[in-house]
Amino acid sequence: MPKIHILKPETARLIAAGEVIERPASALREILDNAIDAEAGEISVEIQKGGIDLVRVRDDGTGMSREDLALSILDHATSKIENPEDLLKARTLGFRGEALASIAAVARIDITTKDASSESGWRLTKAPGGEPRISPVAARMGTTVEAQAFFETYPARRQFLKRAVSEAFQCRTVFLEKALCHPGIRFLWQTGETKEHLEASDLSTRLALLYPELAPSRLEVHRWGVESGKATLAYADPSIHRRDRKFLQIFVNRRKVPEWGLAGIIDYAFSEYLPGGMHPVAFLFLEIDPKEVDFNIHPAKREVRIRRLEDLKTAILAEMRVLFKLKFGAGPTDLSGQLSSRDFSWPARPDAFSSHPSEAPFWERLIAEAPQEQYQAPQKMGFRYIGRASGPFILFEREASLYVLDQHAAHERILYDRMLESSPSSQPLLVPALVELESEDQEKRLAALMPELKRLGFKIERSGETFVVDEVPSFLGEQALPVLLDSLKETNPGDAPAKRLVATMACRAAVKDGDRLEDAAAKDLIEKALALPFPRCPHGRPIWAILDMETLYKMVGRIP
Ligand code: ADP
Ligand code: MG
Repeated sequence: MPKIHILKPETARLIAAGEVIERPASALREILDNAIDAEAGEISVEIQKGGIDLVRVRDDGTGMSREDLALSILDHATSKIENPEDLLKARTLGFRGEALASIAAVARIDITTKDASSESGWRLTKAPGGEPRISPVAARMGTTVEAQAFFETYPARRQFLKRAVSEAFQCRTVFLEKALCHPGIRFLWQTGETKEHLEASDLSTRLALLYPELAPSRLEVHRWGVESGKATLAYADPSIHRRDRKFLQIFVNRRKVPEWGLAGIIDYAFSEYLPGGMHPVAFLFLEIDPKEVDFNIHPAKREVRIRRLEDLKTAILAEMRVLFKLKFGAGPTDLSGQLSSRDFSWPARPDAFSSHPSEAPFWERLIAEAPQEQYQAPQKMGFRYIGRASGPFILFEREASLYVLDQHAAHERILYDRMLESSPSSQPLLVPALVELESEDQEKRLAALMPELKRLGFKIERSGETFVVDEVPSFLGEQALPVLLDSLKETNPGDAPAKRLVATMACRAAVKDGDRLEDAAAKDLIEKALALPFPRCPHGRPIWAILDMETLYKMVGRIP
């Protein structure tokens, strides 16, 4: 008897829909994209119960005819592209023709619309699995899309929805992103009693409205041409900076993207004017020829692949350096006088930046989330940073001694102490991870470690042989799962299991021997290492070698 069978179309449809529409916020994103593609001048959004009960978006865009309305919710129905080569040309936010069909598979959908050539409006109503009904209604030009009761008929998904407040937060995040990328569109936002109007304006005004915490500083806006497109940078004076990267955002063709390589470039350009480890307030918007970018690598277009990214990074850095010299003057080249000019010599080495998501951001997050009191650079720990040496070594000088720091060991110890002492904050995973372990042994080990993992910031629930991971410690971020799974494979006996887990996690999460830290990060690491009460790695090895002057003189045969 065959084991394989073909899924029923409804089931296959649900699975495909689940990839595009994970939660109400993904529906909101798609519906907003459609309104923007329809050239709306005003868009109003209402959500109820975090969008789970209702997402409603009204636009005054082109609207649809009755025929188009009927087609719009079918699979692969789009007016935006026709042929494969159009994929390379599409300047619209949508082009795959699957959003409305996916929403209609997981929620009740009502679309009311009228286009310029129709006398009356039309309303389409459809429940998941049901047939659409279309009837005439009185309507203004434009389109209103309502999606209600998300995943009501899809319990497997529904159970992964979070509480209404956190779904609402995700909807709000989507709204902010769209409003930010389209300051020329008037937006209205309503949830419960809260109402907000954003008048059509310029970018700087829109930013100030969306992020009042940035006021009173009005952001400067700089526009210039890059190869195959244009760039806009909105940035604050470096006197305004943050420990995290909340306000360091990258947009490509009107979508926010996790492009760490580009964020790294901006950090780098600002680092000359910022205290070590701090991040600027800067929003970079790139409009690039669609054939140079590929959004088709993620079902929800959450990632982008940019061709000739390295060239682009180099060009952007060059522009920013000239701009900042002009705006901020030569600047206090380095606030602590620890940098040598060669660190900022031109041409830049784009290879010093990684666009690989797992390298830079993790380190940056570590700095960003360090509790302020604990890690504020203490003056008494003055040192002179010399630079990176080969392998894991970082060189600095302090009190007439030369220090050779082992970056891996030091970072390991810092993470280890932090995990043991504090109660780290958690961050929810966008999609809960289902973990199935390789052996019963590992299952037992994980089960026994649950209380400790909870303390570390994991939220894990067991259901039979599967473990559902919902939240992870925020200082580990995306690395949390691989680090945890790796740790479970380790079987060296000795320490108490919980301590061992923490040690292994610290080891896995720490910077590796060959990682090239940027100067700001290296200096930060030195500061934190100097603040360690016990400067040895969790396995007991020293984190540095110290050569004092006397020893050095002796070593070269000059005994004073
Ligand atoms: P896509 O946006 O990828 O084309 P969708 O499923 O999101 O696919 O939408 C299908 C089609 O429905 C669109 O191509 C467009 O023609 C039409 N449509 C959807 N929303 C709107 C809207 N708000 N105003 C006008 N037309 C719309
Ligand atoms: Mg669309």
